[in-house]
Amino acid sequence: MSAFVDEYMAWLKARNPAEAEFHQAAEEVAESLEVVLDKNPKYREAKVLERISEPERVIMFRVPWVDDKGEVQVNRGFRIEMNSAIGPYKGGLRFHPTVYLGMLKFLAFEQVFKNSLTTLPMGGGKGGSDFDPKGKSDLEVMKFCQAFMTELSRHIGQFTDVPAGDIGVGGREIGFLFGQYKKIRNEFVGVLTGKGLNWGGSLIRPEATGYGAVYFAAEMLTTRGETLEGKTCLVSGSGNVAQYAIEKILDLGGKPVTCSDSGGYIYDEAGIDRDKHAFLLELKNVKRGRISEYADKYKSAIYTPVDKAKDYNPLWDHRADCAFPSATQNEISAKDAANLLKNGVHVVSEGANMPTVPEGVNLFVDKGILYGPGKAANAGGVATSGLEMSQNSLRLSWTREEVDARLHGIMKAIHRQCVEASAAYGMEGNYVAGANIAGFLKVADSMLDQGVV
Ligand code: NAP
Repeated sequence: MSAFVDEYMAWLKARNPAEAEFHQAAEEVAESLEVVLDKNPKYREAKVLERISEPERVIMFRVPWVDDKGEVQVNRGFRIEMNSAIGPYKGGLRFHPTVYLGMLKFLAFEQVFKNSLTTLPMGGGKGGSDFDPKGKSDLEVMKFCQAFMTELSRHIGQFTDVPAGDIGVGGREIGFLFGQYKKIRNEFVGVLTGKGLNWGGSLIRPEATGYGAVYFAAEMLTTRGETLEGKTCLVSGSGNVAQYAIEKILDLGGKPVTCSDSGGYIYDEAGIDRDKHAFLLELKNVKRGRISEYADKYKSAIYTPVDKAKDYNPLWDHRADCAFPSATQNEISAKDAANLLKNGVHVVSEGANMPTVPEGVNLFVDKGILYGPGKAANAGGVATSGLEMSQNSLRLSWTREEVDARLHGIMKAIHRQCVEASAAYGMEGNYVAGANIAGFLKVADSMLDQGVV
C-alpha cells in the first residue's frame, strides 16, 4: 500500500470503525485515484476524496411492527444519502438480516461512482433494514414495509432521494412501500423505481441489471474480437439479477450452467435452457422456493448444498469461459478466483456489488482477463431506474424495444468511459481503474463547481 492510501485508510477507519465492507470499497477506489490526484492537485486542495467518503446524511430509525402471531417486532431502518453533486440520491433498499451501517455505506459509496458512469443525472444513496423477508407471510411483509415507509417518507422525494430494490426488495416490496408513501404524502409521484407496469414502472427495469451485466461482458469481448456465442457461463444467485443474466446469456447464444441461493447451487451440464429458465422464474418469483427443487425437477442437474467447512465455493470450480457473480458481496474468495482462472474463465462481469475479494480482483487484473467490476457491469439496473424517472416526469411509457435500446447504449457508453479513462492514466484494459476514475471525475468536477457544501 502506498503512503497516500495508508494515510487515507487510517483516516477513514478511525472515522468508521468496524465497517469492513466500507473500508474494502474505499481502499480500492483510493488505489485507483492516487494517480489522478497526483496529476490534478485541485482535487486534493478541495479535499474531494475526503468529502466523497463522508455521507451527506445518515438516517437511522426504529421500525416496529406486529407479526402474524400478534407479537411486536423491532427492526432497524437506514438510509445513507451519500452524494448529491450530480442529481438526487438514488440507490436501492436491501432487506437482509446482515444489513448494518457499514454494509450500506459501502453500497452507497459504490453507488456514487456507478451512477456517475450511467451518463444520467443521479447522485448516490442506499438504504434498507435488517428485516428478513424469507419465511414471512405477504401480510407480514406488507406490515413491515408500511412501518418502514412511515419513517422513510419524511426523508425521500422525487427531487431529493429516489430508492429502488436490492437484495430482498423486489416488485412486491416496492408495491407496498409505494402504496404507503402515496397514502402518507397524498401524492402520486415517481418516488421509487422498480414500480409495477400499471402504476408508473418501466418495461425492462426488472431485467435491466442482469441484461446490462451480459451486455457489458459482450462489449468487453468485442475488444478481443469475440462474442458470447457458444460460451459456457457460470452464474451465481437466482434472484433478480441472476434470472435475467441467464436470459440474456441465452439470447446471445451462451450456455448458462449454474445458479444458486444461500442454501447451495445447481450445476446443469446440459445448460439452463428456455424451459428450465421459465421454471426457475416460477420457482423463485411465485413459489418462493429453494434452488434444490431445480435438481428435483431436472435430472441433468446436480445440487450441492453449501458446505461451510470448505474454503472455496465449488460453483466457481467448473470448466467455463465466463462468470457472472450475481448473489452478494465477497462471494468470490482468492481461492475461487484462482479456480476460475484454472478452469479457463477469461471473462468476469459482476452482476452483484463487490462480489470479489481484493486478492481475487488483483489476480484478475494481473492476469489481464476481461474483468468488469460491479460498479460498471451492474450499472444497467440503476440506469434503467433513471429511465423510469424520465418516463415518470414525461408522463409517458416507452416501449420495451426503446428502453432496451437505451439500456444497451448506456452499457456501451459505460464500457467506453472505462476504456478511455484507464488508457488516459496509463492503465489500459484495467476496468477497475477505468470505472473508478471516470466515475470520480464527473462527481469531483461537479463538487468543485458547487463550492464547499
Ligand atoms: P435478490 O433478488 O434478493 O437475489 C439475491 C440472490 O442471491 C438470491 O438467490 C439469494 O439467495 C442470494 N444471496 C443473497 N445473499 C446471499 C448470501 N449472503 N450468501 C449466498 N447467497 C446469497 O437480489 P438481487 O437484486 O438479485 O441482487 C443480487 C446482487 O446484485 C446484490 O449484490 C445487489 O446489490 C446487486 N445489484 C442488484 C441490482 C438490482 O437492480 N436488483 C442492481 C445492481 C446490483 P437466498 O434467496 O437464499 O437468500
